[in-house]
Amino acid sequence: MFVSIGVRFEANVEALNMVETAGNYSKHRRVPYIIEEDGKLKTIYVPAMSGESLGHAYQELLVKESKALNLPVCEDCEKFEFFKSMNKKHLEKKIKPIPKDREKIEEAIIKSCVIEDIGGFLYAEKPPVKRTSAFQFSYALPIKSIAIYATTEPQLHARHAQTVGEKKEGASEQMIYYVETGTAIYGFTFNIDLDAIGISGLTNKPVVDEESIKKRREASLKAIFRMLSSQQFGAKLSRFFPVGNIMEVAIAITEHPFSVTSPIYDNYIEKTEKRLKVVANTFGEDTKFITTNDEKTSEECLAEMINYIKDKNII
Ligand SMILES: [Zn+2]
Repeated sequence: MFVSIGVRFEANVEALNMVETAGNYSKHRRVPYIIEEDGKLKTIYVPAMSGESLGHAYQELLVKESKALNLPVCEDCEKFEFFKSMNKKHLEKKIKPIPKDREKIEEAIIKSCVIEDIGGFLYAEKPPVKRTSAFQFSYALPIKSIAIYATTEPQLHARHAQTVGEKKEGASEQMIYYVETGTAIYGFTFNIDLDAIGISGLTNKPVVDEESIKKRREASLKAIFRMLSSQQFGAKLSRFFPVGNIMEVAIAITEHPFSVTSPIYDNYIEKTEKRLKVVANTFGEDTKFITTNDEKTSEECLAEMINYIKDKNII
């Protein structure tokens, strides 16, 4: 079973994805973006959030949901340090001595860590072993039709030092700094292949038992629910928590991989619904489409998603 979620959210005065600091200036991530204006294509630069940043937040919540369900999480991932068994030093924490066989290495990692089972890993030693992530995140980008209104603007802030008695020569009483803030209505896509969880990417056979696979799938869905309902994604939340909300979600649940039309397009819900019908008719498959269209909250949609998958005995 495959789940694809399109999300739209409004974020005013956010600093969700900063890329570099030059002196006292922190820059927001910005990307080139093609838009159409008066029948002509042009490129503009817009604020953006990387899929890496969204993926990191998701995996942090996946750690918490996995632990709540008593599923194994390795020592590194538990600390939100996603090294993903990248070398001998990190793999030895899971299995010692390290087997020479690729399948045995993969099996040991999947068994000992849900995050690496679901989020993939790359063991870059001899023999190298790679596991593809079961989930995918796009970048979060401004909605196309109103992308020209997306802005980045530096905000001036100051830190004040306490001054007691006489001021020392050269000591500054305040330090000024700029944080570039973004304002936009963003859209992003999240996909997850529930069939890949707990299954070897090398042999295509289950590595853990059926009950454990179901629990792992449940954790993967609860983590995206938490991520959207709590808005705990992106950087600088302690002082630049975005002013705004999740506006819309569109969830497609299919038997095989299917991705919702990107929420950067205005008609993405109607388009996805149309595409899903063709898939259902052509392949004779069950499909389910849940959206906030009929006044449902995003939480109601996400709960409906989990219940539908539970009814199908997948989790
Ligand atoms: Zn791990």
